[in-house]
Amino acid sequence: MTFSIVTIFPDMVHAYLNASIMKRAIKSGVINVAVHNLRDYTLDKHKSVDDYPYGGGAGMVMKAEPFFMITEKLWPEKESRKIILLSPQGRLFDQEAAETLSGEQREIVFFCGRYEAIDERVKEQLVDEEISIGNYVLTGGELPALVIIDVISRLVPGVLGDSRSFEEDSFTCGLLDYPHYTRPEFFRGMEVPGVLLSGNHSEIRKWRKKQSLKATLEKRPELIDAYSLAPEDKEILDKLKEERK
Ligand code: SAM
Repeated sequence: MTFSIVTIFPDMVHAYLNASIMKRAIKSGVINVAVHNLRDYTLDKHKSVDDYPYGGGAGMVMKAEPFFMITEKLWPEKESRKIILLSPQGRLFDQEAAETLSGEQREIVFFCGRYEAIDERVKEQLVDEEISIGNYVLTGGELPALVIIDVISRLVPGVLGDSRSFEEDSFTCGLLDYPHYTRPEFFRGMEVPGVLLSGNHSEIRKWRKKQSLKATLEKRPELIDAYSLAPEDKEILDKLKEERK
């Protein structure tokens, strides 16, 4: 998959992309991420990307011109790119949205906002979709762009060493993940559940399913309603509900 990030703080974005799984995925060519400095698409000597708002009011507004210039130069063909504006007003991003975006054939271009707003004409003419990562307001779109790229990248074959890592993740299968343990077996008076040491894979699978259902029931019960329960899941769930009484 190919992503582009348009920002006035490229260093901020590079810092995250140059570490760990993202760094490896980019190096191996499984994903491509280009980072573009919006200031390189300005015409004045101060490379200004913002100006005062018409009508007055607090804060500065990002100018339309640099966004139009970069789009016309780098992505002149509308069909070959999808421009996403990071915005608290956008559609809420979740695992389902990530799965849809992971099938995107076009290059995904993120416009990172800063200051009070972006000139509305950018939204009208260039932006295909506005996406929010939560009902709160950040200082800029860089973290949201990285969050979205990170979540999508985990779904791209070859990014994670073992695809089972995301298949069993919270939300991917519709339930929350089960508890995990690693060595040592005894730690400060706490033990690893015996079944995980038993080598009995069928029993381990059953235990993990029960723990997933338990975690979901306790922490995010609304997810259970949307999950299609197999008869054995229903049985486990009934027992869990009984135990809670
Ligand atoms: N005045 C704007 C509003 O109320 O809609 C908020 C501007 S915010 C200070 C600056 C930039 O941060 C936005 O243009 C957007 O790119 C980014 N941003 C802030 N919160 C966000 C969120 N929850 N999701 C995605 N992007 C966000």
